[in-house]
Amino acid sequence: MKMLKLILVAPLCFAASVVSGVTFGCKQACLELSNFDVSRSTGNTALSSLWSNFQAEVEPECRLVPRHNRDVAEILRVIRKFNCHFAVLGGGTSPFKGASNADAGITIDMQSLRDLDVVDGENAHVVVGAGNLWAHVYAALAPFNMSATGTRNSLTGVIGSILGGGILFFSEAHGWACDTVIEFELVLANSSVILANEHQNPEIFWALRGGGNNFGIVTRVSIEAFKNPPTWYTFQRFSPDHMDLVFNRLEAHTNSMPNDVCQIAVTFQWHVPTDQFVVSERMVAYELPELPEILWRKDSQGKLEPVSVLQTVSYQRSILAMAEKMDQMNPHGFFNLFGSLTVYNDSDLFTMLARVFMAEIEHIKTIEGLQVYIVYNPLTSKALSHMQKRGGNALGLESRDGPLTIININLHWSKQNDNDQMYVFMRNLIKGLRSTAVQKGLLHPYLFQNHAFEEENLFDGYGVVNVGRLRTLQKILDPDRVFQALQPGGFKLWADQVDDAQWDKSEL
Ligand SMILES: Cc1cc2nc3c(=O)[nH]c(=O)nc-3n(C[C@H](O)[C@H](O)[C@H](O)COP(=O)(O)OP(=O)(O)OC[C@H]3O[C@@H](n4cnc5c(N)ncnc54)[C@H](O)[C@@H]3O)c2cc1C
Repeated sequence: MKMLKLILVAPLCFAASVVSGVTFGCKQACLELSNFDVSRSTGNTALSSLWSNFQAEVEPECRLVPRHNRDVAEILRVIRKFNCHFAVLGGGTSPFKGASNADAGITIDMQSLRDLDVVDGENAHVVVGAGNLWAHVYAALAPFNMSATGTRNSLTGVIGSILGGGILFFSEAHGWACDTVIEFELVLANSSVILANEHQNPEIFWALRGGGNNFGIVTRVSIEAFKNPPTWYTFQRFSPDHMDLVFNRLEAHTNSMPNDVCQIAVTFQWHVPTDQFVVSERMVAYELPELPEILWRKDSQGKLEPVSVLQTVSYQRSILAMAEKMDQMNPHGFFNLFGSLTVYNDSDLFTMLARVFMAEIEHIKTIEGLQVYIVYNPLTSKALSHMQKRGGNALGLESRDGPLTIININLHWSKQNDNDQMYVFMRNLIKGLRSTAVQKGLLHPYLFQNHAFEEENLFDGYGVVNVGRLRTLQKILDPDRVFQALQPGGFKLWADQVDDAQWDKSEL
């Protein structure tokens, strides 16, 4: 009953962005930590280059750069002693304020944990320190003609993206990034350093694959590597008047991916420079796939009419070159918001969602520095099947859920004055998309953590059973709620306002 009461009192699982009005003992903590063997720089100097302005404008009391897992353990000990709030900074690409940079608190910057060891041969894998970006992993594997399953951009952090899932071009064949993890090394709330894999601490291993930053600070990870010759990337642009045909293709491919095609996605963009909507299909494949020169539309008499493809581009690239190309489409130095929802695979619904997007864009067309697009990412039954590997992950998805489509919203602009309006836009857009999917009976509750809007009740989408399991583990590992209350950034399993008195440890 007490457990029930706790859940009712604390139903939210949101991404808390700041601790308002409290600095706890951060000054004293920073002072004490200045004596330890970690680099220390006061203020925000090195963080102004963080990808999103929301994060770059945050000023920590101090930024600590551990060089070893022992340093991380010691920093956590002092953090606990002085009750100072903190954030863990990986690649720093979370868009929202405080997610990985602590306002007036301690930012633990993992950048110096850059060890990277490639183990070739049977069971090829790579051992990656927590300060690495996917660019570093792709570059280290390139001489072996291999890759690992990371993200489609090179600038994202390895651990941050794994803790939320991690989608790459090759997830159809190899699974999401979290499903390729063989082992984590992490520092728990009590500063002990442990390993978590399928056999050792398997419950923690399960929880880290999707459970976000709620369980510990990961210092190293071992991930699968696979042969990855240069790959074909194709891009076809269509008129939005014919988006239904593009979505028909997407639905068909999601149901049954053509041989050798590794990934397909459709982007629907408001293209500011040309003042028009643009719909494009991207494919990734080991052999150059057959690309249509025209699509066919049936007129009212059932006669076929040709529809032109406006542009076709294809090139063969390494994963690193492609990921770097994707970085250019998402430059740093803007205010950014992400949003995401998951729907069942249905082309009529895709078209309806695109129309909701088109209507909402009318409210923000004049915003300075605007870039806005949605990406339809298929989550095929095959990609889902990898989620059962090594005891499964915490995401709450199974093959029988599929095929699904994850719709990610990307938004950036330049002026702080427009922030309020853009938040309203994002809320309205998500509401409109979601209610459209609900009306069609095609909304799936899962939310993709790496792209979810910060105000979402993210873990609700993982299902009651998984949330219960994650919360039980969290209470065992971290009864003093170091990673819940003292680390407010990121998606939390519990809301901050849970009263200490309600933590009855005897329930465990
Ligand atoms: C341009 C761009 C493209 C993207 N493309 C993709 C894509 O193709 N596929 C995909 O899956 N995602 C993609 N993402 C999303 C990305 O994976 C998430 O933003 C992810 O959280 C980034 O991790 P990070 O380390 O860069 O960010 P950070 O902001 O540093 O970290 C993210 C979260 O993880 C926590 N964290 C980081 N390191 C650790 C650690 N060592 N231990 C414990 N907690 C830690 C942080 O505290 C924070 O809450 C993209 C993001 C951007 C900006």
